[in-house]
Amino acid sequence: MTTSNAPQILLRKHTRREFRERMNSGELQAVIIPVAAIEQHLEHLAMEHDWRSVTHVANAVAERLRPHVVVAEGLMAGISEHHMNHPGTLSLTPATFMAVVHDLVDSMYRAGFKNILVLNGHGGNVAPMQAVWDQFIRRYQVNLQFMPYWDVYTAQDAEELMDSGQRLPQDLPGHAQEFETSFALAAFPENVRTKMWTDQPDQKPAMATAEKGAAFIERTVDRVSAYVQDMIDGRNVVEIPSFHP
Ligand SMILES: [Zn+2]
Repeated sequence: MTTSNAPQILLRKHTRREFRERMNSGELQAVIIPVAAIEQHLEHLAMEHDWRSVTHVANAVAERLRPHVVVAEGLMAGISEHHMNHPGTLSLTPATFMAVVHDLVDSMYRAGFKNILVLNGHGGNVAPMQAVWDQFIRRYQVNLQFMPYWDVYTAQDAEELMDSGQRLPQDLPGHAQEFETSFALAAFPENVRTKMWTDQPDQKPAMATAEKGAAFIERTVDRVSAYVQDMIDGRNVVEIPSFHP
C-alpha cells in the first residue's frame, strides 16, 4: 500500500520543486514513458485496454522500485489505422506517433534522466518504433530503450498459462484474446462484458480467467522491474550505434 508521505511514482503529481529536489539529489534514476492505443477490442473488452494495461504495469514497476523510478504518462493513443473500420477507435498516423514519442523522450532527457524506458502496450506501435529507434539513441546518447511489456514472456509461460494455443511472445498481445482478456479480468474486471464474449464470431476470449491474468501480471511486474533495475545498475545498457564515418 502507498502511504501518504511515500515518494510519488507519477510525474504529474509532483510540484516543480518536489521534482527538482528529487532529480538534484540523485534519487530519481529512471523514467518509464508508457505508450499504447485506444481502439476497439472486439465486442466484449473496453477500448482503453492497451493504455490501461501498460500503465498498470508501469505503475506497479515504479512502486516496486520506489523511490528511484517515476512514470511520465505519455501517449494513450497509438498507431491503429487497422482498427478504424470500428468507429470510436482513436488513431495517430505513424509520423504523428513518432513525433510525440520523440518530444516526450526529449522532455525527459532535458529533465536529466539517463535511463528512459518507453514501455509499449499496443502491437501496432512496435514495427514503426523499432524501425527508427537507433536514430533516437544516436540523438540522445543515453540509455534509451523501447520495449513492449510482453517481450518478457517465454514459451514456458505459454505452456503454463495459455489454453488457446497463442504462442509467447510471438503471438502476443493478440487482440482482445485470451491474454488481454485475462489481464483485464484480473486488474480491471469492469472492462470485460462477459455476457458479450461469446456473442461474437471469435470465441477465444471466453477462455480467459482472472487467475491466468493475475499470474501474467505478477510475472510481468517481476521481470520488467528487474529490467529497469538492471538499466539503473548499468547491467542493461543500450549500445549506442555509430555515426557514419
Ligand atoms: Zn490490445
